[in-house]
Amino acid sequence: MTRKISILGSTGSIGCNTVDLIQRLPEGAVVVEALTGSANVTLLAKQAKALRAKVAVTANPDFYEPLKQALAGSGIEVAAGVPALIEAAARPVDWGMSAIVGAAGLAPTLELAKHGGVLALANKESMVCAGELLKTTCETHGTSLIPVDSEHSAIFQALQGNAVSSVSRVILTASGGPFLNWTSEQMASATVAQAVAHPNWSMGQRISIDSASMFNKALEIIEAQVLFDMRPDQIEVVVHPQSIVHSMVEYKDGAILAQLGAPDMRGAIGFALHWPERRDLPVARLDFRTLNELTFSAPDSQRFPALRLATEAMEIGGLAGAAFNGAKEKALDAFIEGRISFPNMAELVEYVLVEIASVASGQSSLSGLQSVLEVDRQARALGQAWIKRNA
Ligand code: NAD
Ligand code: MG
Repeated sequence: MTRKISILGSTGSIGCNTVDLIQRLPEGAVVVEALTGSANVTLLAKQAKALRAKVAVTANPDFYEPLKQALAGSGIEVAAGVPALIEAAARPVDWGMSAIVGAAGLAPTLELAKHGGVLALANKESMVCAGELLKTTCETHGTSLIPVDSEHSAIFQALQGNAVSSVSRVILTASGGPFLNWTSEQMASATVAQAVAHPNWSMGQRISIDSASMFNKALEIIEAQVLFDMRPDQIEVVVHPQSIVHSMVEYKDGAILAQLGAPDMRGAIGFALHWPERRDLPVARLDFRTLNELTFSAPDSQRFPALRLATEAMEIGGLAGAAFNGAKEKALDAFIEGRISFPNMAELVEYVLVEIASVASGQSSLSGLQSVLEVDRQARALGQAWIKRNA
């Protein structure tokens, strides 16, 4: 059976890995509806031609002309801007990959969730900002939500065949990132280039910096809480620098099921692509005779305050996840632009959480996308005010 698919954020790290897997499928296995990107129109056009996509969309209207030129004569439709992106996401498909980075992925992901079939979710920000809304949208439309974040894919896999009610806790593994063994003084002067240099995973710039600050793990705690209906105290983070154990589920009887594999996102993407089956994937196989060691330790919450802030956001509840993410995105932008230091990012997020707690706590994403986007906007504005005062 030919499946119709779309890839939102096809030019990114997850997107390119998804395209790679799609290109390896037998002829006729899929028909590609939409591919979307932003500034990298040369790559977007190349992908659209190679996969014979129906439409290629750049989220940024400034890149409409270059994209149109790059696809001239190809017969591939070209569109630009956020409304076009959302329209492209709304085109019916059997399988949709949500791999835009940041809260910008929220509205298009909600469209992908309305098709039935499978929503492969890499855009963790959707789950953090509007998890209840996204889950309800999937349920209403009979869409299977398959997580692509490696930790959540691991937990999803370790949950197969067992009731969520029999889980005692989930254990998220964290590589610890490039600053695992840095002192606070060294981290205070960390540069963007140093933060991007992840030891195990090859990822986009933003998530790589979030891994260095552990804000990525903080988002993943909230993602796990919403996705798997866990209480905050059921989620534990453990540093595992080898990134071989992708995460674990502990059941009430004390048994722990883990999912292991090489650190290659094509494992989690491929699982979501072939679910509920398992098929061959081009990922390296583990050889336990040469692995040497798998080590685990507690994260240092002094040097990585992001983890504590995630717990605070979960305690506030309501739309605090959206505020947390909006503040984090603002802080990350400012760090990348060289306006604030690496440790400033957590200070900014903490300030925003305190300021916004009473507004966010009484709300729910179930009241709609607009209320989520409003909290996101307020969090960014508060973040901007913090930068003005402190940078
Ligand atoms: P990336 O930066 O490499 O790619 C992001 C994609 O989104 C690109 O196609 C880009 O064109 C598009 N994009 C950027 N800004 C946009 C905007 N404002 N509107 C519309 N499109 C926009 O990011 P990535 O590393 O591939 O991550 C994508 C998502 O997957 C993120 O949510 C990330 O947290 C998650 N994720 C990534 C990895 C990984 O290994 N890279 C692992 C787990 C989860
Ligand atoms: Mg992850």
